Amino acid sequence: MTKDLLIRNVRPLGGAPTDLFICNGRFAEGSTEHEEMRVLDAAGQIALPGLVEAHTHLDKTLIGMGWYRNEVGPTRNDRILADRKAKRALGIDARRQSARQIMQTLRFGVTHIRTHVDVDTEIGIANVNGLVATRDTFSGLVDVEIVAFPQSGMLVREGTLALMEEALKAGADIVGGIDPASIDRDPVRHLDAIFALADRYGKPIDIHLHEPGELGAFCLDLIVERTRTHALEGRVMVSHAYCLGMVEARRQAALIDALAASRIAIMTVGSPSAPVLPLRLLRQAGVVVASGSDGIQGTWEPWGSGDMLERAKFLAQRNGMTADSDLEATIDVCTFGGAAGIGLADYGLSQGCHGDLVLVGAETVAEAVALTPQNRTVIRGGRILVRDGLPSEDLPHVA
Ligand SMILES: [Zn+2]
Repeated sequence: MTKDLLIRNVRPLGGAPTDLFICNGRFAEGSTEHEEMRVLDAAGQIALPGLVEAHTHLDKTLIGMGWYRNEVGPTRNDRILADRKAKRALGIDARRQSARQIMQTLRFGVTHIRTHVDVDTEIGIANVNGLVATRDTFSGLVDVEIVAFPQSGMLVREGTLALMEEALKAGADIVGGIDPASIDRDPVRHLDAIFALADRYGKPIDIHLHEPGELGAFCLDLIVERTRTHALEGRVMVSHAYCLGMVEARRQAALIDALAASRIAIMTVGSPSAPVLPLRLLRQAGVVVASGSDGIQGTWEPWGSGDMLERAKFLAQRNGMTADSDLEATIDVCTFGGAAGIGLADYGLSQGCHGDLVLVGAETVAEAVALTPQNRTVIRGGRILVRDGLPSEDLPHVA
Protein backbone atom coordinates (compact mmCIF):
# COMPACT_ATOMS: atom_id res chain seq x y z
CA MET A 1 0.00 0.00 0.00
CA THR A 2 1.38 3.38 -1.01
CA LYS A 3 1.72 5.81 1.86
CA ASP A 4 -0.12 9.11 1.70
CA LEU A 5 2.02 11.85 0.20
CA LEU A 6 2.14 15.51 1.08
CA ILE A 7 3.91 17.68 -1.50
CA ARG A 8 4.90 21.01 -0.04
CA ASN A 9 5.69 24.24 -1.85
CA VAL A 10 4.47 23.15 -5.26
CA ARG A 11 2.91 25.27 -8.03
CA PRO A 12 0.08 23.44 -9.83
CA LEU A 13 0.14 24.42 -13.53
CA GLY A 14 2.53 27.26 -12.67
CA GLY A 15 0.18 28.91 -10.18
CA ALA A 16 0.87 30.17 -6.66
CA PRO A 17 2.82 27.91 -4.25
CA THR A 18 0.65 25.54 -2.26
CA ASP A 19 0.60 22.00 -0.87
CA LEU A 20 -0.83 18.98 -2.68
CA PHE A 21 -2.00 15.98 -0.71
CA ILE A 22 -2.45 12.51 -2.18
CA CYS A 23 -4.47 10.08 -0.09
CA ASN A 24 -5.30 6.53 -1.23
CA GLY A 25 -3.92 7.31 -4.67
CA ARG A 26 -5.98 10.45 -5.27
CA PHE A 27 -5.69 14.17 -4.66
CA ALA A 28 -7.47 15.03 -1.45
CA GLU A 29 -8.04 17.97 0.79
CA GLY A 30 -4.96 19.28 2.63
CA SER A 31 -3.81 17.37 5.65
CA THR A 32 -1.57 17.91 8.62
CA GLU A 33 1.60 15.86 8.69
CA HIS A 34 1.54 12.58 10.53
CA GLU A 35 4.01 9.73 10.94
CA GLU A 36 2.54 7.46 8.29
CA MET A 37 2.82 10.12 5.63
CA ARG A 38 5.65 10.88 3.23
CA VAL A 39 6.50 14.53 2.76
CA LEU A 40 8.19 15.91 -0.34
CA ASP A 41 9.44 19.48 -0.64
CA ALA A 42 8.89 20.50 -4.27
CA ALA A 43 10.97 23.67 -3.76
CA GLY A 44 8.60 25.75 -5.86
CA GLN A 45 8.60 23.47 -8.91
CA ILE A 46 5.63 23.43 -11.28
CA ALA A 47 3.28 20.44 -11.09
CA LEU A 48 1.75 19.18 -14.32
CA PRO A 49 -0.58 16.20 -14.46
CA GLY A 50 1.16 13.04 -15.76
CA LEU A 51 2.06 13.64 -19.42
CA VAL A 52 -0.03 11.78 -22.00
CA GLU A 53 1.64 10.10 -24.97
CA ALA A 54 -1.44 9.68 -27.16
CA HIS A 55 0.26 8.16 -30.20
CA THR A 56 3.39 6.09 -30.38
CA HIS A 57 4.60 2.72 -31.68
CA LEU A 58 6.19 0.93 -28.74
CA ASP A 59 6.76 -2.23 -30.80
CA LYS A 60 8.93 -0.42 -33.35
CA THR A 61 11.55 1.41 -31.32
CA LEU A 62 15.17 0.28 -31.63
CA ILE A 63 16.28 1.87 -28.34
CA GLY A 64 19.34 -0.02 -27.06
CA MET A 65 19.73 -2.10 -30.23
CA GLY A 66 22.61 -0.16 -31.77
CA TRP A 67 22.45 2.28 -34.64
CA TYR A 68 20.20 1.26 -37.51
CA ARG A 69 21.64 2.36 -40.84
CA ASN A 70 18.65 3.94 -42.55
CA GLU A 71 18.65 3.40 -46.31
CA VAL A 72 14.89 3.50 -46.59
CA GLY A 73 13.24 5.11 -49.63
CA PRO A 74 11.19 8.28 -49.36
CA THR A 75 7.60 6.99 -49.69
CA ARG A 76 5.30 5.65 -46.99
CA ASN A 77 5.22 2.33 -48.78
CA ASP A 78 9.05 2.16 -48.79
CA ARG A 79 8.96 2.66 -45.05
CA ILE A 80 6.28 0.04 -44.48
CA LEU A 81 8.34 -2.50 -46.43
CA ALA A 82 11.57 -1.59 -44.62
CA ASP A 83 9.78 -1.80 -41.32
CA ARG A 84 8.48 -5.31 -42.02
CA LYS A 85 11.90 -6.43 -43.23
CA ALA A 86 13.65 -5.01 -40.16
CA LYS A 87 11.26 -6.85 -37.87
CA ARG A 88 12.54 -10.13 -39.32
CA ALA A 89 16.19 -9.19 -39.87
CA LEU A 90 16.80 -7.47 -36.52
CA GLY A 91 14.53 -9.67 -34.45
CA ILE A 92 12.79 -6.72 -32.78
CA ASP A 93 11.29 -8.08 -29.58
CA ALA A 94 8.11 -6.07 -28.98
CA ARG A 95 7.99 -6.92 -25.28
CA ARG A 96 11.57 -5.86 -24.55
CA GLN A 97 11.53 -2.79 -26.79
CA SER A 98 8.24 -1.47 -25.47
CA ALA A 99 9.54 -1.76 -21.90
CA ARG A 100 12.65 0.20 -22.87
CA GLN A 101 10.64 3.05 -24.35
CA ILE A 102 8.27 3.13 -21.39
CA MET A 103 11.16 3.40 -18.93
CA GLN A 104 12.79 6.12 -21.03
CA THR A 105 9.64 8.22 -21.21
CA LEU A 106 8.61 7.64 -17.60
CA ARG A 107 11.64 9.71 -16.63
CA PHE A 108 10.14 12.60 -18.59
CA GLY A 109 6.85 12.26 -16.74
CA VAL A 110 4.82 10.21 -19.24
CA THR A 111 2.34 8.17 -17.21
CA HIS A 112 -0.23 7.29 -19.89
CA ILE A 113 0.49 5.88 -23.34
CA ARG A 114 -1.60 4.89 -26.33
CA THR A 115 0.45 2.68 -28.62
CA HIS A 116 -0.37 1.40 -32.07
CA VAL A 117 0.90 -2.16 -32.44
CA ASP A 118 1.42 -3.88 -35.78
CA VAL A 119 -0.86 -6.72 -36.74
CA ASP A 120 -0.05 -8.32 -40.08
CA THR A 121 0.01 -11.60 -41.93
CA GLU A 122 3.75 -12.09 -41.29
CA ILE A 123 3.96 -11.58 -37.54
CA GLY A 124 0.31 -12.22 -36.74
CA ILE A 125 -0.48 -10.90 -33.26
CA ALA A 126 2.96 -11.61 -31.76
CA ASN A 127 3.61 -7.90 -31.12
CA VAL A 128 0.23 -7.45 -29.45
CA ASN A 129 1.04 -10.40 -27.18
CA GLY A 130 4.39 -8.75 -26.37
CA LEU A 131 2.65 -5.48 -25.53
CA VAL A 132 0.06 -7.18 -23.34
CA ALA A 133 2.95 -8.66 -21.32
CA THR A 134 4.62 -5.26 -21.01
CA ARG A 135 1.33 -3.65 -20.03
CA ASP A 136 1.06 -6.16 -17.17
CA THR A 137 4.66 -5.45 -16.10
CA PHE A 138 3.90 -1.74 -15.76
CA SER A 139 0.43 -2.12 -14.33
CA GLY A 140 -0.25 0.66 -11.81
CA LEU A 141 2.89 2.53 -12.91
CA VAL A 142 2.34 3.52 -16.54
CA ASP A 143 -0.98 2.86 -18.24
CA VAL A 144 -0.74 1.44 -21.74
CA GLU A 145 -3.58 1.31 -24.28
CA ILE A 146 -3.02 -1.03 -27.22
CA VAL A 147 -4.36 -0.30 -30.71
CA ALA A 148 -4.55 -3.29 -33.08
CA PHE A 149 -2.92 -1.55 -36.04
CA PRO A 150 -2.96 -2.86 -39.65
CA GLN A 151 0.28 -1.08 -40.61
CA SER A 152 0.72 -3.02 -43.87
CA GLY A 153 -2.88 -2.60 -44.97
CA MET A 154 -5.98 -4.54 -44.08
CA LEU A 155 -8.09 -5.37 -47.13
CA VAL A 156 -5.04 -5.59 -49.40
CA ARG A 157 -3.55 -8.28 -47.18
CA GLU A 158 -6.13 -10.94 -46.78
CA GLY A 159 -6.42 -12.36 -43.29
CA THR A 160 -5.43 -9.11 -41.54
CA LEU A 161 -8.96 -8.27 -40.41
CA ALA A 162 -9.32 -11.70 -38.77
CA LEU A 163 -5.96 -11.14 -37.04
CA MET A 164 -7.17 -7.78 -35.73
CA GLU A 165 -10.14 -9.56 -34.20
CA GLU A 166 -7.75 -12.07 -32.66
CA ALA A 167 -5.71 -9.16 -31.30
CA LEU A 168 -8.81 -7.75 -29.57
CA LYS A 169 -9.47 -11.14 -28.01
CA ALA A 170 -5.83 -11.25 -26.88
CA GLY A 171 -6.14 -7.93 -25.05
CA ALA A 172 -5.91 -5.06 -27.54
CA ASP A 173 -8.10 -2.16 -26.42
CA ILE A 174 -8.74 -0.24 -29.63
CA VAL A 175 -9.46 -0.95 -33.29
CA GLY A 176 -6.91 0.68 -35.60
CA GLY A 177 -7.13 1.67 -39.24
CA ILE A 178 -4.89 3.17 -41.87
CA ASP A 179 -5.33 5.22 -45.04
CA PRO A 180 -8.57 3.61 -46.20
CA ALA A 181 -8.20 4.98 -49.75
CA SER A 182 -4.50 5.05 -50.60
CA ILE A 183 -3.36 1.88 -48.83
CA ASP A 184 -6.51 -0.25 -48.84
CA ARG A 185 -7.90 1.43 -51.98
CA ASP A 186 -11.49 1.03 -50.81
CA PRO A 187 -12.37 3.55 -48.10
CA VAL A 188 -16.01 2.52 -47.65
CA ARG A 189 -15.20 -1.14 -47.21
CA HIS A 190 -12.20 -0.42 -44.94
CA LEU A 191 -14.16 1.89 -42.66
CA ASP A 192 -17.27 -0.30 -42.63
CA ALA A 193 -15.08 -3.23 -41.56
CA ILE A 194 -13.34 -1.46 -38.69
CA PHE A 195 -16.51 0.21 -37.40
CA ALA A 196 -18.27 -3.17 -37.45
CA LEU A 197 -15.38 -4.71 -35.52
CA ALA A 198 -15.47 -1.88 -32.98
CA ASP A 199 -19.22 -2.41 -32.60
CA ARG A 200 -18.88 -6.12 -32.09
CA TYR A 201 -16.27 -5.77 -29.35
CA GLY A 202 -17.46 -2.49 -27.84
CA LYS A 203 -14.09 -0.82 -28.56
CA PRO A 204 -13.00 2.69 -29.57
CA ILE A 205 -11.34 3.44 -32.91
CA ASP A 206 -8.07 5.19 -33.83
CA ILE A 207 -7.29 5.70 -37.52
CA HIS A 208 -3.99 6.77 -39.09
CA LEU A 209 -5.11 9.17 -41.83
CA HIS A 210 -2.20 10.55 -43.85
CA GLU A 211 -4.23 11.03 -47.01
CA PRO A 212 -3.86 14.48 -48.53
CA GLY A 213 -6.28 17.22 -49.48
CA GLU A 214 -9.73 16.32 -50.72
CA LEU A 215 -9.00 12.58 -50.62
CA GLY A 216 -8.32 12.79 -46.89
CA ALA A 217 -11.27 15.15 -46.41
CA PHE A 218 -13.55 12.65 -48.14
CA CYS A 219 -12.30 9.89 -45.81
CA LEU A 220 -12.94 12.21 -42.85
CA ASP A 221 -16.51 12.70 -44.09
CA LEU A 222 -16.93 8.93 -44.14
CA ILE A 223 -15.48 8.62 -40.63
CA VAL A 224 -17.84 11.32 -39.32
CA GLU A 225 -20.85 9.58 -40.90
CA ARG A 226 -19.94 6.24 -39.36
CA THR A 227 -19.13 7.71 -35.97
CA ARG A 228 -22.71 9.03 -35.88
CA THR A 229 -24.45 5.94 -37.23
CA HIS A 230 -22.55 3.69 -34.82
CA ALA A 231 -23.08 6.12 -31.92
CA LEU A 232 -19.34 6.23 -31.29
CA GLU A 233 -19.20 9.95 -30.46
CA GLY A 234 -16.32 10.60 -28.08
CA ARG A 235 -14.67 7.26 -28.90
CA VAL A 236 -13.00 7.92 -32.25
CA MET A 237 -9.60 9.49 -32.81
CA VAL A 238 -8.09 10.39 -36.15
CA SER A 239 -4.30 10.50 -36.09
CA HIS A 240 -2.43 13.02 -38.27
CA ALA A 241 -5.37 14.13 -40.47
CA TYR A 242 -3.00 16.18 -42.64
CA CYS A 243 -5.91 16.96 -44.96
CA LEU A 244 -7.23 19.43 -42.37
CA GLY A 245 -4.24 21.63 -43.10
CA MET A 246 -4.53 21.29 -46.88
CA VAL A 247 -8.12 22.01 -47.93
CA GLU A 248 -9.46 25.51 -48.53
CA ALA A 249 -10.85 27.53 -45.64
CA ARG A 250 -14.58 26.83 -46.09
CA ARG A 251 -14.07 23.08 -46.46
CA GLN A 252 -11.74 23.17 -43.46
CA ALA A 253 -14.31 25.02 -41.33
CA ALA A 254 -17.05 22.54 -42.26
CA LEU A 255 -14.81 19.59 -41.38
CA ILE A 256 -13.87 21.14 -38.03
CA ASP A 257 -17.56 21.69 -37.23
CA ALA A 258 -18.34 18.08 -38.12
CA LEU A 259 -15.48 16.79 -35.94
CA ALA A 260 -16.66 18.91 -33.02
CA ALA A 261 -20.28 17.79 -33.41
CA SER A 262 -19.37 14.10 -33.56
CA ARG A 263 -16.73 14.49 -30.83
CA ILE A 264 -13.94 12.99 -32.90
CA ALA A 265 -10.50 13.73 -31.43
CA ILE A 266 -7.52 14.69 -33.56
CA MET A 267 -3.97 13.62 -32.82
CA THR A 268 -1.15 15.68 -34.28
CA VAL A 269 2.60 15.28 -33.75
CA GLY A 270 3.45 18.65 -35.29
CA SER A 271 5.70 16.99 -37.84
CA PRO A 272 8.16 19.40 -39.48
CA SER A 273 7.67 17.69 -42.85
CA ALA A 274 3.87 17.46 -43.01
CA PRO A 275 1.14 20.09 -43.46
CA VAL A 276 0.45 22.06 -40.30
CA LEU A 277 -2.93 21.51 -38.66
CA PRO A 278 -5.13 24.47 -37.67
CA LEU A 279 -4.46 23.94 -33.96
CA ARG A 280 -6.11 27.15 -32.77
CA LEU A 281 -9.23 26.71 -34.91
CA LEU A 282 -9.66 23.09 -33.82
CA ARG A 283 -9.40 23.99 -30.14
CA GLN A 284 -11.63 27.05 -30.49
CA ALA A 285 -14.29 24.84 -32.07
CA GLY A 286 -14.08 22.45 -29.11
CA VAL A 287 -12.35 19.60 -30.96
CA VAL A 288 -10.20 17.53 -28.59
CA VAL A 289 -6.59 17.74 -29.79
CA ALA A 290 -4.03 15.28 -28.46
CA SER A 291 -0.40 14.73 -29.36
CA GLY A 292 2.20 12.01 -29.45
CA SER A 293 5.74 11.19 -30.47
CA ASP A 294 4.78 8.66 -33.16
CA GLY A 295 7.72 6.29 -33.73
CA ILE A 296 10.91 7.13 -31.86
CA GLN A 297 14.36 5.83 -32.78
CA GLY A 298 13.16 3.26 -35.29
CA THR A 299 13.33 2.44 -38.98
CA TRP A 300 10.85 5.18 -39.83
CA GLU A 301 12.73 7.98 -38.14
CA PRO A 302 16.09 7.82 -36.40
CA TRP A 303 15.26 10.47 -33.80
CA GLY A 304 12.79 11.23 -31.04
CA SER A 305 13.01 11.03 -27.27
CA GLY A 306 9.38 10.51 -26.26
CA ASP A 307 9.44 13.63 -24.06
CA MET A 308 5.97 15.16 -24.27
CA LEU A 309 7.25 18.53 -23.00
CA GLU A 310 9.56 18.61 -25.99
CA ARG A 311 6.59 17.58 -28.14
CA ALA A 312 4.69 20.62 -26.83
CA LYS A 313 7.62 22.74 -27.97
CA PHE A 314 7.55 21.13 -31.45
CA LEU A 315 3.81 21.86 -31.70
CA ALA A 316 4.43 25.49 -30.81
CA GLN A 317 7.29 25.79 -33.30
CA ARG A 318 5.32 24.13 -36.10
CA ASN A 319 2.39 26.47 -35.48
CA GLY A 320 4.55 29.59 -35.30
CA MET A 321 3.57 30.11 -31.67
CA THR A 322 5.70 32.10 -29.26
CA ALA A 323 3.20 33.78 -26.91
CA ASP A 324 3.05 32.34 -23.38
CA SER A 325 -0.68 31.64 -23.73
CA ASP A 326 0.00 29.59 -26.87
CA LEU A 327 2.79 27.60 -25.18
CA GLU A 328 0.36 26.90 -22.34
CA ALA A 329 -2.10 25.63 -24.95
CA THR A 330 0.48 23.18 -26.30
CA ILE A 331 1.00 21.79 -22.79
CA ASP A 332 -2.75 21.47 -22.49
CA VAL A 333 -2.69 19.34 -25.68
CA CYS A 334 -0.02 17.06 -24.17
CA THR A 335 -1.89 16.66 -20.86
CA PHE A 336 -5.66 17.31 -20.75
CA GLY A 337 -6.11 17.00 -24.54
CA GLY A 338 -4.38 13.64 -24.57
CA ALA A 339 -6.35 12.47 -21.56
CA ALA A 340 -9.66 13.41 -23.19
CA GLY A 341 -8.56 11.93 -26.50
CA ILE A 342 -7.67 8.52 -25.11
CA GLY A 343 -10.57 8.52 -22.66
CA LEU A 344 -8.93 8.85 -19.22
CA ALA A 345 -11.27 9.43 -16.29
CA ASP A 346 -10.48 11.57 -13.24
CA TYR A 347 -7.42 13.13 -14.83
CA GLY A 348 -5.88 16.37 -13.55
CA LEU A 349 -4.62 17.97 -10.37
CA SER A 350 -8.02 18.63 -8.75
CA GLN A 351 -9.31 16.91 -5.67
CA GLY A 352 -10.62 13.45 -6.45
CA CYS A 353 -8.40 13.02 -9.50
CA HIS A 354 -5.74 10.30 -9.64
CA GLY A 355 -2.58 11.43 -7.88
CA ASP A 356 -0.40 11.44 -10.99
CA LEU A 357 1.94 14.35 -11.65
CA VAL A 358 5.31 15.49 -12.83
CA LEU A 359 7.36 18.19 -11.15
CA VAL A 360 9.26 20.48 -13.48
CA GLY A 361 11.81 23.11 -12.44
CA ALA A 362 10.64 26.16 -14.36
CA GLU A 363 9.37 29.63 -13.54
CA THR A 364 6.32 29.37 -15.80
CA VAL A 365 4.60 26.72 -17.90
CA ALA A 366 5.75 28.57 -21.02
CA GLU A 367 9.35 28.34 -19.82
CA ALA A 368 8.87 24.60 -19.23
CA VAL A 369 7.85 24.25 -22.89
CA ALA A 370 10.64 26.46 -24.18
CA LEU A 371 13.49 24.96 -22.15
CA THR A 372 12.19 21.44 -21.35
CA PRO A 373 14.05 21.21 -18.02
CA GLN A 374 15.17 17.70 -17.05
CA ASN A 375 15.69 15.99 -13.67
CA ARG A 376 11.94 15.80 -13.18
CA THR A 377 10.13 14.06 -10.36
CA VAL A 378 7.31 11.73 -11.39
CA ILE A 379 4.56 10.61 -9.08
CA ARG A 380 1.88 8.02 -9.76
CA GLY A 381 -1.00 7.55 -7.35
CA GLY A 382 1.09 9.14 -4.61
CA ARG A 383 4.08 6.87 -5.22
CA ILE A 384 7.34 8.55 -6.23
CA LEU A 385 8.51 6.68 -9.35
CA VAL A 386 11.26 9.07 -10.42
CA ARG A 387 13.01 11.55 -8.14
CA ASP A 388 15.01 14.40 -9.67
CA GLY A 389 15.43 12.32 -12.83
CA LEU A 390 16.47 9.10 -11.06
CA PRO A 391 14.09 6.13 -11.31
CA SER A 392 13.14 4.44 -8.08
CA GLU A 393 14.94 1.15 -7.47
CA ASP A 394 11.73 -0.81 -7.05
CA LEU A 395 10.57 -0.17 -10.63
CA PRO A 396 10.48 -3.21 -12.95
CA HIS A 397 13.89 -4.29 -14.17
CA VAL A 398 14.23 -3.57 -17.88
CA ALA A 399 17.00 -5.32 -19.81
ZN1 LIG B 1 1.73 6.35 -36.07
